[in-house]
Amino acid sequence: MIQLYIPLGFLGVLYREIKQSLTDLDKMFVLLEKEREVADEPGARPLTLDGPPTLRFENVHFSYEPAREILHGVSFEIPAGKTVAVVGPSGSGKSTLARLLYRFYDVSNRDEGGRITVDGQDIAEVTQGSVREAIGIVPQDTVLFNDTIEYNILYGRPEAGHDAAVAAAEAAHIRSFIERLPQAWRTMVGERGLKLSGGEKQRVAIARTLLKNPPILIFDEATSALDSANERAIQAELRLVSKHKTALVIAHRLSTVVDAHEILVLDSGRIVERGRHADLVAQGGAYARMWALQQAGND
Ligand code: ATP
Repeated sequence: MIQLYIPLGFLGVLYREIKQSLTDLDKMFVLLEKEREVADEPGARPLTLDGPPTLRFENVHFSYEPAREILHGVSFEIPAGKTVAVVGPSGSGKSTLARLLYRFYDVSNRDEGGRITVDGQDIAEVTQGSVREAIGIVPQDTVLFNDTIEYNILYGRPEAGHDAAVAAAEAAHIRSFIERLPQAWRTMVGERGLKLSGGEKQRVAIARTLLKNPPILIFDEATSALDSANERAIQAELRLVSKHKTALVIAHRLSTVVDAHEILVLDSGRIVERGRHADLVAQGGAYARMWALQQAGND
């Protein structure tokens, strides 16, 4: 009986392992598919940076498929160390801007001068690896690995060690949550472990980014509904994580963007309004209408 039990138990584990590795492979292929879209130019050099850089999108046109252009000439600048926020309806192209900055794809009109620069260097001309090295992403939905929460926080910089993980978790307001779990830092998370809420996952991503300490930040705000205490906490975390960084924030709640250096209102791949919060509200256009709606609690 015991002899039968052990192999069956083992098979169960094996099955889960195989299923998991297929899921991971699946994710990897999706990533590789994207990787294939861009290639380094022969002799490309790494990006050179000296502190948080100035980012510029210059007349950026982009299509995933030739027949359907998604961005129709987008230009804006994020001065060194500042935050620019992008708002707009679903499908307007907000995440596409972030994907282009991370160089999952290249700008479609490079021949006609469309480009994205980091301190004046065209990101299509430097190595893709060096661009990604310089960027920290806090995504909407963080992928957690089937490992401990400590591993997940240290992911990308395992040599930083336990004390650094604790400090980052403290700053991201997730330390006390972790330390109250029965297995604390050794708690298994991911698909086979403890399921974290959207907000908790976002905090793990914030802790990771604080550890990586990149000069450029992409913050893709979670769309999940938050109560106002949590909303304030996320705003405070965003301020913390974007300090001394050049940040592009994709926002769904306008309350997140009131402090931004500039807010871009994107609609069908075009910037239709731009400015600071108070100016846009005073202008009485699309942003002012979105603000009035969210203030009324209809977001
Ligand atoms: P949301 O607020 O819903 O996240 P968004 O403003 O971030 O939306 P994008 O994800 O940038 O919008 O998508 C812009 C447009 O590009 C959409 O019409 C979408 O269907 C299209 N699109 C996005 N990814 C791809 C892709 N891989 N292939 C083809 N079209 C795509």
